[in-house]
Amino acid sequence: MKVIDHIRQAKSTLVSFEVLPPLKGKGINALWEHLDPLMVFNPSFINVTYHRSESMFKRKPDGTFEKVEVRKRPGTVGICAAIMNRYKVDAVAHLICGGFSKQETEDALIDLNFLGVDNVLVLRGDAPKNESFFEPEPGGHKYAIELLQQITNMNNAIYLEEDLKSAVKTNFCIGAAGYPEKHFECPNLQTDLLFLKDKIDAGADYTVTQMFFDNKKYFDYVKACRDAGIEAPIVPGLKPITSKKQLTVIPRTFHVDIPEALSSEILKCKTDKDVEVVGTEWLLHQSKELKAANVPVLHYYTLGKPNVIVDVVKEVF
Ligand SMILES: Cc1cc2nc3c(=O)[nH]c(=O)nc-3n(C[C@H](O)[C@H](O)[C@H](O)COP(=O)(O)OP(=O)(O)OC[C@H]3O[C@@H](n4cnc5c(N)ncnc54)[C@H](O)[C@@H]3O)c2cc1C
Repeated sequence: MKVIDHIRQAKSTLVSFEVLPPLKGKGINALWEHLDPLMVFNPSFINVTYHRSESMFKRKPDGTFEKVEVRKRPGTVGICAAIMNRYKVDAVAHLICGGFSKQETEDALIDLNFLGVDNVLVLRGDAPKNESFFEPEPGGHKYAIELLQQITNMNNAIYLEEDLKSAVKTNFCIGAAGYPEKHFECPNLQTDLLFLKDKIDAGADYTVTQMFFDNKKYFDYVKACRDAGIEAPIVPGLKPITSKKQLTVIPRTFHVDIPEALSSEILKCKTDKDVEVVGTEWLLHQSKELKAANVPVLHYYTLGKPNVIVDVVKEVF
């Protein structure tokens, strides 16, 4: 079933989770151990992130260095199919522009279509860690909207090979990313919203937000979207803080603020176990307030801390 149909048919707020593919070599059991305790909450869908390859330098026996491309977390397409097979729940495959040509993207979309994975979240992706700016692959997409257009084309039986005869239509439901605190490369929120509106007008069915720790930012964002003519559902993305280190890592990585009321409580903590208690309470409060406001879905980034999500979700639903 499509994410947009889950949202349209829901009588109250739904729950969904997001997971990362395991690190290469870890095997899929680590993912099942992560997801099994979360499945008691009957999530409507589970997102699986996509990770571009990174360039690394490996020392050769003669002392010189060789540049190699390493994808540390491969397997998104396969994991989506495995999740649907194991749990009979819809999976959403993230797709990124970075590191892919249009032909490679088309092949991934064909795989997803054959596997019955009809939900995708389209993203541009970020620059590799050792590069300052995002550069598309030769023959790849520069912005998420271009990837989105490729998918809506396939939904209309238009593939890259224009002379394909009797091509079948794919049936993808498409989500796009939104940023309550604006995307870090965009000059201002209004401009960011114009680009988001373009994505919705080009065929995105709904938006999932970047994480935020102050619900007012989400509520203001929804209002700003509606004022800008964006009517599609806006799914809030939520993440717990469970270590002191995240006070600096989260703003630096995701370009979001941590409210002073939360950071000051975390700074008082002696151990990360104490931080987890504070972070769990904060997420619980955020979740209850958002559910009371009847948001379409509470979408939890579960990375590494399924126990915190279990504690929160069992109190909220
Ligand atoms: C819910 C969510 C899930 C994510 N999952 C992943 C994942 O699985 N893998 C991963 O690598 N990353 C993921 N990301 C991170 C994402 O790839 C980055 O935030 C990336 O920098 C932007 O992606 P986007 O799809 O918003 O890009 P875009 O929509 O392409 O926007 C990128 C920037 O360009 C601007 N822009 C857009 N269109 C135009 C235009 N036509 N002209 C000029 N400027 C324009 C936008 O305002 C923005 O500043 C996720 C982010 C979110 C919020």
